[in-house]
Amino acid sequence: MSKLTDASNGSTCVRCGAPDAYSCHYNGPRQHAYGKGRAIKCSDMATAEFCKRCDDVFVEGSYATHKEAEGWRDVNDRSEWFLHWIMVTNIRRAREGVLTCQR
Ligand SMILES: [Zn+2]
Repeated sequence: MSKLTDASNGSTCVRCGAPDAYSCHYNGPRQHAYGKGRAIKCSDMATAEFCKRCDDVFVEGSYATHKEAEGWRDVNDRSEWFLHWIMVTNIRRAREGVLTCQR
């Protein structure tokens, strides 16, 4: 586990505020652009800090089982929501000093 994903353990869920969140890797249609390869997850930068319940909403293969409840129009709509929560996560990481700029 990387330092970045390690730092997520015990954070609050960016989607619902529940405790005990952890890093969940993006798994949507753009995952190969973010470093996904055979047996390799995409970049740790493409992770959202979710609790188990929200992880289940965005876990691989969740589109069909959750599209109605979540109101997703298509897989790209699901992707947009996942990327939204990743952006919220990275903004929080920057605000809290987990992500910093070296120059
Ligand atoms: Zn949650």
